[in-house]
Amino acid sequence: MEEILIYSVVGLLCFGIMYIYLRKLKNESDVVTEKIVKAKEEGIHEPVSLYPYINEDNCIKSGACITACPEHDILGIRNGRATLINASRCIGHGACFHACPVEAITLKIGTEKRGVDLPHVNQNFETNVQGMFIAGELGGMGLIKNSVEQGKQAIDNINSAIDKSHNAQYDIIIIGAGPAGISASLQAKKNGLNAIVLEQDSLGGTVYNFPRAKIIMTSPMDLPCYGKIKLFQTSKSELLSLWKEVIEKNNIVVREHFKVDSIGKKDEQFVVSNSSGETFSANKVLLAIGRRGSPRKLGVEGEWMEKVAYKLLEPELISGKNILVIGGGDSAIESALLLAEDNKVNLSYRSDKFNRLKPKNAENILQAIEKGKIIVLFESNVTNIILDKVEIRVKDGNTLSLDNDLVYIFAGGELPTQFLEKSGIKISKRFNYTLLSHKN
Ligand SMILES: Cc1cc2nc3c(=O)[nH]c(=O)nc-3n(C[C@H](O)[C@H](O)[C@H](O)COP(=O)(O)OP(=O)(O)OC[C@H]3O[C@@H](n4cnc5c(N)ncnc54)[C@H](O)[C@@H]3O)c2cc1C
Ligand code: SF4
Repeated sequence: MEEILIYSVVGLLCFGIMYIYLRKLKNESDVVTEKIVKAKEEGIHEPVSLYPYINEDNCIKSGACITACPEHDILGIRNGRATLINASRCIGHGACFHACPVEAITLKIGTEKRGVDLPHVNQNFETNVQGMFIAGELGGMGLIKNSVEQGKQAIDNINSAIDKSHNAQYDIIIIGAGPAGISASLQAKKNGLNAIVLEQDSLGGTVYNFPRAKIIMTSPMDLPCYGKIKLFQTSKSELLSLWKEVIEKNNIVVREHFKVDSIGKKDEQFVVSNSSGETFSANKVLLAIGRRGSPRKLGVEGEWMEKVAYKLLEPELISGKNILVIGGGDSAIESALLLAEDNKVNLSYRSDKFNRLKPKNAENILQAIEKGKIIVLFESNVTNIILDKVEIRVKDGNTLSLDNDLVYIFAGGELPTQFLEKSGIKISKRFNYTLLSHKN
């Protein structure tokens, strides 16, 4: 009797532990399922570029990939297997790839259904257009360290191929001042090449657009004209200051706010121009333009002013201003909502209603309109931007003149693919394409 009692108690105990364990697993799975549902609603579940592909048959649920990933909620464990949550946020560190103890992760680009456009480049980083090269994330491989390395290598290849007896203004024009363009410009200096960097925005590329508090994860890298950068974790401001200092010290010419609109050829030399018709010529061109594309401009009077921006950085530092936000997509709505906390915000949108907004944004903007926190002008078009005003043509044909300190334009963008095709570069759509596997 005593034995039966002991066995029963032990059995019950085991059952209890098992029950608690399974319940915990189920709760964890439910949380991940909820996150996936939300990610799908927000359109960030599907990978857009590089992402970890999980071989479910090999996965043993160690969770090492999740611990190793420095970004949040890219991966989670559901029903005993690793799974993707916010896959579009993966930036390709590959920490998960290295951390998995059973090598169940492969890094891929493009899924079976959704292809990713990649330009044709040979092992020297040259495209099908002779003399036009590509370095950095545009070629498919992201991360600061990889971009720095590729910028350097591309210039070395250009240097060994260039005939300096050409009659162009420059040996090389580098388009884009992100990590790849910065490194390329320094390597060009080192090799005695006459180069100019053209950047549509500001020095730093994608890193310039990181939130102020973002911790940048990287590995030590060699920066030409500087030496080894022995950093594993750093801040945006530290990295930008370092790049700025090296660029200035080496007298590199970076022409900021110059958006390259077209690349043509004249007398065997490349002619690079912006939309105002300003041109530069060079014997070679290096495209280091990343994969984020260029914001679409409205083409209205006064758009060149400093108070006009195409992205919202550090909204917490903006208060007491009269602001016009232009656009009706999620970026416009999210920015208008953030700015409306401490500013007077008008939103101009050319359609008669918002379409395909994330459900949360649709709800929040409606509330903000009802509470009078944001004034929305549907079917309106900005016609003129002046120093302290903006002029907007509204539905009834009249023109409103509003007090204005800042304008934020969110009118979509031109993908790098469109720019590449315009420049004659061949593109292929890659589906389910393995960039890094344990078999390589
Ligand atoms: C949210 C986020 C977090 C990240 N975190 C990390 C991290 O922690 N560690 C890490 O190593 N990597 C990180 N990355 C990835 C890293 O930022 C990129 O891989 C890297 O910046 C790519 O460098 P790049 O020089 O190829 O391109 P980019 O940095 O994108 O630079 C391209 C430049 O070209 C310019 N340009 C584009 N078109 C034109 C044109 N027509 N005319 C003139 N200029 C043009 C752009 O304005 C831009 O400045 C992150 C990326 C994102 C989005
Ligand atoms: S590649 Fe990097 S960002 Fe993507 S899941 Fe792995 S560790 Fe996270």
